Amino acid sequence: MTAEIEALTSGADGPYFEGLKAGEIRVQKCAGCSEIHWPAVFRCPDCGSWEHVWQTVSPEGRIFSWTRTWHAFGGPAAHKPPFVSVVVSLLDADHVRLIGTLDRPDAAVAIGARVRADITEVDFLDRKIPTLIWSLV
Ligand SMILES: [Zn+2]
Repeated sequence: MTAEIEALTSGADGPYFEGLKAGEIRVQKCAGCSEIHWPAVFRCPDCGSWEHVWQTVSPEGRIFSWTRTWHAFGGPAAHKPPFVSVVVSLLDADHVRLIGTLDRPDAAVAIGARVRADITEVDFLDRKIPTLIWSLV
């Protein structure tokens, strides 16, 4: 495991980042009450269980929110403006919303549009950061 991914996997959401490295989106499901939590938690706020399982879900969702950025502000070099940032509700767990960018900065974006994620990495501050690049479907 690289130092970069090791730093990302030290919190409650560590298995999420391990999933991205394996090419999967994984969400945290409580072993006690089966509630899906996002952001991930150490202890279930619904039933109090400390036990969780990580379920692989489809990399598909609907755009919940979006914005088009026209000016650079110091993010990853791969995100040259203009680019579109999106918040996506997953089809398999619609209260789980993940952030990423659209593959096409000129896309006709709409709330509710179906998208599919490509899991990749971007370089940022000498680190490889797992990221989701969404495409309209
Ligand atoms: Zn629970």
